[in-house]
Amino acid sequence: MSKTRVLYVEDEEVLAMLVRDHLERNGFEVHWVANGNEAEAIFREVKPDLCILDIMLPGLSGYEIGKVIRAVDKAVPIIFLTARSESKDVVEGFKSGGNDYLKKPFSLEELMARINNLLSMAGRTSPGQYKIGDLSFDPVRMVIQTGDQSVSLSHRENELLKMLIAMVGRPVERKEILLQLWGDDHFFNSRNLDVYITRLRKYLKMDPDIQLITLKGVGYQLVEG
Ligand code: CA
Repeated sequence: MSKTRVLYVEDEEVLAMLVRDHLERNGFEVHWVANGNEAEAIFREVKPDLCILDIMLPGLSGYEIGKVIRAVDKAVPIIFLTARSESKDVVEGFKSGGNDYLKKPFSLEELMARINNLLSMAGRTSPGQYKIGDLSFDPVRMVIQTGDQSVSLSHRENELLKMLIAMVGRPVERKEILLQLWGDDHFFNSRNLDVYITRLRKYLKMDPDIQLITLKGVGYQLVEG
């Protein structure tokens, strides 16, 4: 599973370090650029899932970068950051292809909330979410969904799917699952696991290309079609 990539253009180094560290701790892959003139090349190279653009920069301004990005990608979410707060700037920001606008100083929590909001509107997954086939799995909300279909998972179903999806395409040992989910591999728990596997198979049928295979004497393997 690849990380959500962020292009972050910011010339204030102290702020840039704070934001970058925070995003990285939240599972994002951050590509930081301090000069507006370098942004386009990095954008083309990285193909980010989201852009965070400061306005006042050496080289191209954030607005100019926004226009350049919109010329090649109509969909990627863009958040503008600015120290200025006049309303004409807000208008200018949206005209330059911005999806959101955050005034400095802002809290890291506010930035994260805006990012997650834009990513979910864009149908892109946040770092905490998994994508397999047509399904997305959110282990925090304990939900699998595709289109308008969704299934809520029990705690153990959720834990089991997390183990399997983290190892997609590779075998997960039955014993390892039993130890992690029940703390021991007694016969009773082993029969319980069969029940959970059957239930997950039923849920995963929302995408017929996904298979949860039994590897006899070993364990299970989740396979994307
Ligand atoms: Ca600046």
